[in-house]
Amino acid sequence: DFDRELCVAGRVLRVQGLVSTVRGDDGRSYACATRQLLKQIAIDARHAVAAGDRVWLRPERSSGIRQESEWHEGIIERVEPRHGALSRTSRNRRHLIAVNLDQLVIVTSAAEPRLKPHLVDRFLITAEKTGLKPLVVINKVDLIDPADLMPLVGVYAQLGYRALLVSAQTGLGVDRLRERLAGRVSALSGQSGVGKSSLLNAVEPGLGLRVGAVSNETQKGKHTTTTAELLPLESDWADGGAVIDTPGIRQFALWDVEPEEVAGFFRDLRPYVSRCRFPDCTHTHEDFCAVKDAVADGWIDSRRYESYVQTHAGDEA
Ligand code: GDP
Ligand code: ZN
Repeated sequence: DFDRELCVAGRVLRVQGLVSTVRGDDGRSYACATRQLLKQIAIDARHAVAAGDRVWLRPERSSGIRQESEWHEGIIERVEPRHGALSRTSRNRRHLIAVNLDQLVIVTSAAEPRLKPHLVDRFLITAEKTGLKPLVVINKVDLIDPADLMPLVGVYAQLGYRALLVSAQTGLGVDRLRERLAGRVSALSGQSGVGKSSLLNAVEPGLGLRVGAVSNETQKGKHTTTTAELLPLESDWADGGAVIDTPGIRQFALWDVEPEEVAGFFRDLRPYVSRCRFPDCTHTHEDFCAVKDAVADGWIDSRRYESYVQTHAGDEA
């Protein structure tokens, strides 16, 4: 076991190779190695620790490299139990992307790039699968007539998914976004260019994120696709909340979902799937399909059904 008296509690901001950056509850930043014992216990040794982890670290005497700066060094002695993990599986190993998440913020834009409801639906599947509460945020509403979005927002609202219309540019909806981010740890998802950095700067100017930066997901030859970074929101309104920016989150949207699981992750299809004639009905081409009947009768939104068909077929969103 470990000696709590000698340790500082903290939150892991990011993990790069063998070094984890931890913000200590003492206000200091620590570059940490992880105790060998913890690595052996972990299912995946490379991810004994993940962004968002609550840890206990033992401060170390500085090796001299960073002596001049505010940086300190330490060894992570203990990782607290987790909830709300985003992970992906490759070669039968589970890779943790981020942990202790409360909600998945699905950012999309009303225009430039054009609105992609299918992509939102993909992220909603991830939320359903991981159990993270989704929040749909439609940015750049200054570029369109917000009334045009009401049918889409209405469908989501009926399903119990909260959607916010915002503009990082005009500040519209930014206060309501703050309310949703306060006191929670949120993973931010959405394709590059929709305004994730702009929105974060609007809610928390102190973050000073670069806008229009080429995201890691499009940089070739870099193994940064799963490097998540926790950004604590330091203002009073944030009440200890934080956001996790996850490059490459587009790819994780459909990791680990089998075609036969997809219908179960569509809240609107779920009530009908057990009523189809064939127990292995895929709800695409079969006769006597209760899902298709519900679409024809207007109980299921036809655009959502299209999303289902595309996702089931494994098509690109
Ligand atoms: P990210 O890749 O998702 O982080 O997107 P960025 O924050 O880098 O923004 C991409 C581009 O969209 C930039 O040129 C921003 O100035 C622009 N942008 C962001 N938010 C808005 C908005 O609300 N309205 C308009 N018109 N443009 C925006
Ligand atoms: Zn069916």
